[in-house]
Amino acid sequence: MTEKILVLGAGAAGSVVTNKVARAFRQEIAKDEVEITIMDKNDMNVNQGGFTFLPFGLYTPEDIKRPRKKVISPRVKTAFGEDGEVEKVDLGNREVTAKSGKKYPYDYLVIATGCSADVESVPGLSSDFNTFYTTIEDALKLGESLKSFNKGHLVIMTPKMPIPCPGAPGKFTVLLDSYLRYVRGEEVRKDIEISLLWPTGLLGPQAYDDVATPVLEKQNINVVKNFGLSEVDEGKKEVVAANGERTKYDLLITIPPHKCTQALVNSGITDEKGWIPINKNTLQYQGAGGSYDEVYALGDAGPAEIIKTGIGTHYQAAIAGQNVINDIRGNGEGAKVSYMGEMGCPFVGAAYTESTRGEAYIPTWSYGRPLEPFKAIRLGWFLYRMYYYIYWDAGLKALM
Ligand SMILES: Cc1cc2nc3c(=O)[nH]c(=O)nc-3n(C[C@H](O)[C@H](O)[C@H](O)COP(=O)(O)OP(=O)(O)OC[C@H]3O[C@@H](n4cnc5c(N)ncnc54)[C@H](O)[C@@H]3O)c2cc1C
Repeated sequence: MTEKILVLGAGAAGSVVTNKVARAFRQEIAKDEVEITIMDKNDMNVNQGGFTFLPFGLYTPEDIKRPRKKVISPRVKTAFGEDGEVEKVDLGNREVTAKSGKKYPYDYLVIATGCSADVESVPGLSSDFNTFYTTIEDALKLGESLKSFNKGHLVIMTPKMPIPCPGAPGKFTVLLDSYLRYVRGEEVRKDIEISLLWPTGLLGPQAYDDVATPVLEKQNINVVKNFGLSEVDEGKKEVVAANGERTKYDLLITIPPHKCTQALVNSGITDEKGWIPINKNTLQYQGAGGSYDEVYALGDAGPAEIIKTGIGTHYQAAIAGQNVINDIRGNGEGAKVSYMGEMGCPFVGAAYTESTRGEAYIPTWSYGRPLEPFKAIRLGWFLYRMYYYIYWDAGLKALM
């Protein structure tokens, strides 16, 4: 009998788990004892983390994308396009249906379809939506707007959590200041007011906020925390807060609210907040309608309570992959590995320009081990810049 492993989504989590399991079972795959199939709605892997840098020309689109076929093990069956776009997940019958109508039965299922922008959920936003958070094209378009922005109020707004990489809006704001101040020049920067509107009381864990807030304020950025949004009034170019306060803007940059893949919501397998419910240690499916030990959910598709970052996603994929391997090998309960909340979010203190040394750090923390105080350093900047190349050859290959 062939053990069928089906992975939904070939982004960060899906690629890692697939490559890990394919490497472990290379002999079993050759003998048809194990089969791994990965599905995705398209055939291009885009590393979204690079979007933050694109508007400032710090990476090119080519740096942050690769054809999926080049980063997925050739031992894996792939379904990209209509045959790979998930339309329905039937946990009871262990079957997934694609948009084309093709059906995929499975013994093990890994849900890794990420999340997507929910622009329509914010009144007025779609009529003035500028962002670096969604696509390469949107990030480049924003870069063009910034090149010709000479004076006025630049507002960077995050209306609601959860979003992927809650550190990215702050990083973007630091890079923006470096760009305006040192690339465009102090003469331009002095005529531009920058505000960061933020929905919670902290920019991350306490120790992250302790570093990030003073850095932003030193760069003369107005940080507004606990900001609640009511609507965007595009006609008046104003952001209207829940308490009625209005903030005038000349260029509004929005990090939109995010939602889980609609096909999973339609399949009735999401929780009351609209995300895939899992045990936070085993990463196995635990919904109101039942628990399914053969089903894992990873990365941005997971519950709102687990912070959505590529770093956390990588750990989750490695751990779920190991447990699928253990289970098929019959290694027993003692071999099981647990996700302990390993998480991280890069911090940027300054870009590398003619006038500044780049400064960054990759702070990490886990369940019950809060982030410790840290300082942005030069090596951190180079490591973070290199990460976008390491990602393809080591990250996605499931190296820990
Ligand atoms: C602007 C930005 C900056 C970021 N910066 C960082 C950073 O510096 N550090 C960090 O650790 N993390 C960062 N992240 C977060 C990181 O990119 C995500 O946490 C990570 O990509 C999540 O991996 P995933 O596999 O869950 O989702 P994804 O990587 O998004 O992959 C999901 C895949 O599912 C596919 N899919 C979706 N719907 C369907 C469907 N119906 N059928 C089939 N396939 C489908 C998609 O095409 C995609 O390939 C950033 C994110 C953004 C947006």
